Amino acid sequence: MKFIADLHIHSKFSRATSKEMTFDNLAYWAKVKGISLVASGDFTHPEWFFLTKQKLEPSGNGFFRLKSINLPPNGFLKNVSLSADEVHFILSTEISFIYSKRGKVRKIHLLVLAPDLESVEKLNQRLSGLGNLRADGRPILGIDAKLFVKMVAELCPRCVVIPSHIWTPWFSLFGANSGFEAIEECFEEMTPFIFALETGLSSDPPMNWRLSALDRYALVSNSDAHSPSRLGREANVFDTEFSYNGLVAALKSRDPRRFLYTIEFFPEEGKYHYDGHRKCNVVLSPRESRRTNNLCPRCGKKLTIGVLHRVEELADRDLNQVPPDKVPFKNLIPLNEVIAEALNKTPECQSVWEIYFRFIHEFGNEQRILTEVPISELSRVQPDKVSLGVERMRKGLVHIEPGHDGFYGRISLFPAEAIEGASGGGQLSLF
Ligand SMILES: [Zn+2]
Ligand SMILES: [Zn+2]
Ligand SMILES: [Zn+2]
Repeated sequence: MKFIADLHIHSKFSRATSKEMTFDNLAYWAKVKGISLVASGDFTHPEWFFLTKQKLEPSGNGFFRLKSINLPPNGFLKNVSLSADEVHFILSTEISFIYSKRGKVRKIHLLVLAPDLESVEKLNQRLSGLGNLRADGRPILGIDAKLFVKMVAELCPRCVVIPSHIWTPWFSLFGANSGFEAIEECFEEMTPFIFALETGLSSDPPMNWRLSALDRYALVSNSDAHSPSRLGREANVFDTEFSYNGLVAALKSRDPRRFLYTIEFFPEEGKYHYDGHRKCNVVLSPRESRRTNNLCPRCGKKLTIGVLHRVEELADRDLNQVPPDKVPFKNLIPLNEVIAEALNKTPECQSVWEIYFRFIHEFGNEQRILTEVPISELSRVQPDKVSLGVERMRKGLVHIEPGHDGFYGRISLFPAEAIEGASGGGQLSLF
């Protein structure tokens, strides 16, 4: 079965998340987005895990579904029909590890997937002696990430550990500030337990293909959503058995016939694509910051080194060298952002959502709208500038000011000249 999976989200118990991160909301929004499998999130948090057991029941394939459906208060959702079998959940959590190894402080995030409640109970039991799981939906543990993987392998060998957003500067496996140079440096003899890596919003597969050391890993993409409307902004598309085992086997195989493609941001849109210093409003490409010795040209402080720079540091392949048999990808822009661009409004305002749901009711779900529905059909729904935006996105005709030092990049789909000469073959201008 073909399905879209988003394996990394946070509940309302994680810091800086929306109160709307509840199971009902997640299920409704997953349907709207076209996602069939969504992470349950934060299973280490006692209250959220209590709610998980109360709200969800096993569907018999290692996934879970809603026991009962309550319509969320969001008015736009009231015309969306949902049955419990349309959206399934996979037990998941993310843990932040802060520890010292070989004289350096390391800070990395790991995503964990679990096949059943018993595995989660066992793991939570063990972890509760190591840190305060109640403090945050994404708890902080002071133990070595390698020891954690060892613990998982012993307690629940069917669980999956995936290093999260591996390139972000502050909390990741390869992060410029507190990460490692190689996977083996972090996980040592437990390295074979790891078979997938999350590329994060600021990097896309071609950037990761530049490291031959990553060839034997499945590269996954997830939303890391903190509010329900951001579900699926990055995700994975599979054509495999719809089960925990099917999912794991497809990931391990890295076979593009089973793991069809990933859905990606334009990586320049991510918060840490370029280098920069936010306070001074300084944004630099890796080449420019090498020229200033990675110091801010305005104030002289250290720049926040972005993902592109870090990839270039560790890369052993050229940009245009594409290794064979790679899982392909699609760069997409969330539909509410396309609409916001078309209307010259902000992506979260009411009038944008009103038009967004006009499209959803007409064509079913966001993924279909962004990738499948012919432009001629989309253009029937007003304002027709939205369909023009989708067309430009599909062709990669976007202009992006790269994200840096915690700021998202800014996308423009309608640079003034592009609208004037729409038929004149707009220019691909990534920066
Ligand atoms: Zn994280
Ligand atoms: Zn996260
Ligand atoms: Zn500065």
